[in-house]
Amino acid sequence: MLPCRRKPSGGRANRNMEPIWEELYRRAAAVRQERRISPFVEAGGVAAALLTGAGNIYTGVCIDTACSLGMCAERNAIANMITNGEHDIRRLAVVMPDGQLGQPCGACRELMMQLGRDSGEIEILTDLASGASVRLRELCPDWWTEARYDC
Ligand SMILES: [Zn+2]
Repeated sequence: MLPCRRKPSGGRANRNMEPIWEELYRRAAAVRQERRISPFVEAGGVAAALLTGAGNIYTGVCIDTACSLGMCAERNAIANMITNGEHDIRRLAVVMPDGQLGQPCGACRELMMQLGRDSGEIEILTDLASGASVRLRELCPDWWTEARYDC
């Protein structure tokens, strides 16, 4: 399998964590199922769940292919959200093959930043034990085109 991504973090879910983080983790874990679709395509090793401003949750799994035609779980969840008429992400949780948390890659960070002026405020779960999160703007310092929102 082609690696979907990066270093995992976190641990098992903590009962003191905000319920919405538990829900996002649970929803992502529920769709995470690694499978081989063809000799060229594998999917489901990584899953993501995002919460929108309207309070809806959208999920996605990674799709790994020959010739790099696939996509990350986060972008799949974003596509699902946009398909359903929304674009305002508030929170994101990513579940790796081992059940640990993952963080979005640069391409997914960039896509989220381009979705709206307030995208930097998106919270991404970083630690299941404590429920700690990071804001997208912290992962994208000095983002290249912030000023274009004023055009
Ligand atoms: Zn990505």
